[in-house]
Amino acid sequence: MHLIVEFTYQYKVREAVFEKIGRISKILDKEDKVLIIRSVWRSFAHQKLLRDRRFKIIKKEYPDKSEKEIIKIVSYFIASEKKSIHSTGVAVDALIYDLKKDCVMDFGNNNGLHLELNKTCYPFHPDITDQVRKNRKLLISLFDKENFVVDPKEYWHFDYENVIWAIEKGEKFVLRNRLLFIYSTLCFILRMNNNHSNPFLKMVS
Ligand SMILES: [Zn+2]
Repeated sequence: MHLIVEFTYQYKVREAVFEKIGRISKILDKEDKVLIIRSVWRSFAHQKLLRDRRFKIIKKEYPDKSEKEIIKIVSYFIASEKKSIHSTGVAVDALIYDLKKDCVMDFGNNNGLHLELNKTCYPFHPDITDQVRKNRKLLISLFDKENFVVDPKEYWHFDYENVIWAIEKGEKFVLRNRLLFIYSTLCFILRMNNNHSNPFLKMVS
């Protein structure tokens, strides 16, 4: 299994996600491609560092904007420490390296590993070339098969069994299932108690 990781960086991930990443890597191996893991679990300190770095870039780009306006722009792509899904360990940022071409695949907004944060980060933005669309489709389909959901704003970010995942997969469905389970358990208890002649429970059922 080939994985490209940065050795100075501490990678932490939940076990279920680790196995999924492994299976995706094996599929890419056969195509002479390598899964690049850019980020998985991120500490609050790391998230703050990313936000501070982005803040400086935006401030330079828009010197007349207020701090509040700059924070709003920064938050569009980089969440605050406490809101970051990466702190849960079930969000993965990934790209693909093409061994035959000896470079990171072209995903439209990337120069190698560097990502430009702009509107073309939307997974299937209309202003991307057919080749870029094809490359993104490959990345997204691999994660999709492992039951991840792609972030609607970032084609490289995938969520698994976290709040974003529940919303994308249908939160109502998850909640309904839980409620149905509680309801059927209650019915079972009532039935059992009826058999044991509990007058109150008989009345309720
Ligand atoms: Zn991410």
